Amino acid sequence: MSMQIENLSYVYGEGTAFEKKALDNVNLELPDGQFIGVIGHTGSGKSTLIQHLNGLLRATHGKIYYNGEDIYREGYDMRGLRSKVGLVFQYPEHQLFEVDVFTDVCFGPKNQGLPKEEVEARALEALHQAGLKEKHYRKSPFELSGGQKRRAAIAGILAMHPEVLVLDEPTAGLDPKGRDEILEQIARLHRERNITVLLVSHSMEDVAKYVDRILVMDDGKIMFDDVPKRVFHHYQELEKIGLAAPQVTYVVKALEAKGWKIDTDATTVEEA
Ligand code: ADP
Repeated sequence: MSMQIENLSYVYGEGTAFEKKALDNVNLELPDGQFIGVIGHTGSGKSTLIQHLNGLLRATHGKIYYNGEDIYREGYDMRGLRSKVGLVFQYPEHQLFEVDVFTDVCFGPKNQGLPKEEVEARALEALHQAGLKEKHYRKSPFELSGGQKRRAAIAGILAMHPEVLVLDEPTAGLDPKGRDEILEQIARLHRERNITVLLVSHSMEDVAKYVDRILVMDDGKIMFDDVPKRVFHHYQELEKIGLAAPQVTYVVKALEAKGWKIDTDATTVEEA
């Protein structure tokens, strides 16, 4: 899998009084197997960007290539793209609607037209990978806790065997324990399946511990795109765009715990 995004811009309500440029000339290369954090404050364009990756939104300007193929060319298999790039929305539990969790997770692969045995095998595998315990499989999604619902929703996407997994604020609304568990599970998934993961968050705290690369978005643009330690070099600028000081402090602590030496006065970060 590889994905290239070239000069991508997106305008909501073009030509109306509510016109809003949500993406402004974004260029990105997404290679296989990376764990990428996408951060930025609310309204910076994160959700708009990720909805382009599986064709839910169509660029106002610019191009997207998936494995070298232009996804906007006539006759391109958008449906195929939607199953290769799995998107887990914010509060994905709102999309759980079947009688029980297992049936819900079967929905995607069943819709792909796979035979029943394959559908069920995939659902079991996905539920296991999402870390949901077997005793919950036959429960109604409404009987689950917040974290369990989140896992069920993630399993629903995994069952489609995506090459890229995109999660929009997967920890929103969870308590700290639930949040850590989900993030650990996502990190484990990335390690074990070696799929590309994009984790969208407004919180540096969430991404700092896990990702190989961070994209910082501000006002529809990619402000930084680098390995975490180089992004955190710019912590003063990060503070200016609303990635608040306590978060930055937390990140500094997290990196120090990893053995990195951070001199906040000199704005330098060194790996110990
Ligand atoms: P984020 O995910 O970082 O919070 P979004 O991509 O949701 O940012 O929003 C980027 C910008 O686009 C914001 O200014 C937001 O108000 C605007 N926007 C988002 N969705 C819509 C929409 N459906 N109609 C009009 N403007 C929108």
